[in-house]
Amino acid sequence: MKIPIHTPSRSYNVHIGQGDLEEAIKTYQQFIVERDKVIVFTDENVWRIYKDAFTKSFPFPFSVFVMPGGEACKTFEQYLAAQTFLLEQKCTRKSMLFAFGGGAVGDLTGFVASTFMRGIPIIQLPTTILAHDSAVGGKTAINHALGKNMIGTFYQPEGVIFDIEFLKSLPAQEVRSGMAEVVKHALISDMVWLQELMELPPMFNLDDEKTMGYLEHGIRVKANIVAQDEEEHGVRKFLNFGHTYGHALEAAFGFGKLTHGEAVMIGMVYALLLSEKYGQISRSFTKEFLLFAICNKYPVESVANFNFDELFEFMQKDKKAEDGELQFVLLKDIGKPFTQRISRSECQETDLLLRE
Ligand code: NAD
Ligand code: ZN
Repeated sequence: MKIPIHTPSRSYNVHIGQGDLEEAIKTYQQFIVERDKVIVFTDENVWRIYKDAFTKSFPFPFSVFVMPGGEACKTFEQYLAAQTFLLEQKCTRKSMLFAFGGGAVGDLTGFVASTFMRGIPIIQLPTTILAHDSAVGGKTAINHALGKNMIGTFYQPEGVIFDIEFLKSLPAQEVRSGMAEVVKHALISDMVWLQELMELPPMFNLDDEKTMGYLEHGIRVKANIVAQDEEEHGVRKFLNFGHTYGHALEAAFGFGKLTHGEAVMIGMVYALLLSEKYGQISRSFTKEFLLFAICNKYPVESVANFNFDELFEFMQKDKKAEDGELQFVLLKDIGKPFTQRISRSECQETDLLLRE
């Protein structure tokens, strides 16, 4: 299945399939054979599991750059190490990169691709459910000690190839993490779909058909938004639903201790509580959603590790902060996101509610 993505800077396809990496990559054959070097970026966890399978099905000569797993690859050190590797490999503007891994590998590789010799092409080969979000839309970034994703670019890939065979090894915590972004796409777009997701058995229990269907649905929601607003001047902000509080939690814990999706799920409960004041979200819906989060083992109780002041400080550093007030994405109703400035005292009241 192919989902076309159209942005002002580039149009490309997201391919979703099963066990067909080799075939799907060959659709880029003409483009790839014109490159002087092909470099695959991956992380040590993914490479440990898939080195043989990948090498067998990747139909072109390549060199590989292996990074530490998770957020540990989204650092200045890894960025520098990656650029050094490309220079040592004698890469040029005619070279290209593949990002084989989750969102962290995708974000780092995208940032490297966008800056190496002012930009070389990249194809994303995502290996997590979460990456249905991160691999599409062209945001790239590394982290800074003072904030997550603070250093980055908008840079669209040449294409995205999702082979769901690579998702089979995902631990439960990473399935949970990825499904949080799927749920986010439902919350901001579609009540019926959200209901379906909330009725899945605990820990989601996804088969191949459901996995492909949810990836496709999420990507279509994102594609539609990114087509209207590539660089987040307007509607693209809606994709940050749950992320202001979520990013603060992630940063407070130290990157990587709480998965991105776990943090976003808690952030979405927080954003729903805030939404009750501004729209038609009822307390009973928020409670139902909280129960859904708890049943799927999202660590909502971990909020107790920090006090409000600590989290607020991180929220203020978030790039969405303006003039002391925080800009949140809220819901008028399911599927109806909007942005709203929220004062510190409202943030604190809501934080108290979440801890009850
Ligand atoms: P990740 O890349 O850190 O992967 C999570 C963990 O799973 C890592 O330890 C990784 O080694 C391991 N892993 C990956 N694939 C595996 C597989 N198939 N089998 C077993 N283990 C596997 O994280 P992620 O959850 O995919 O992505 C999170 C990152 O994505 C965050 O840094 C977040 O900021 C970023 N993100 C970016 C965007 C964007 O638009 N650019 C959107 C959402 C999230
Ligand atoms: Zn996210």
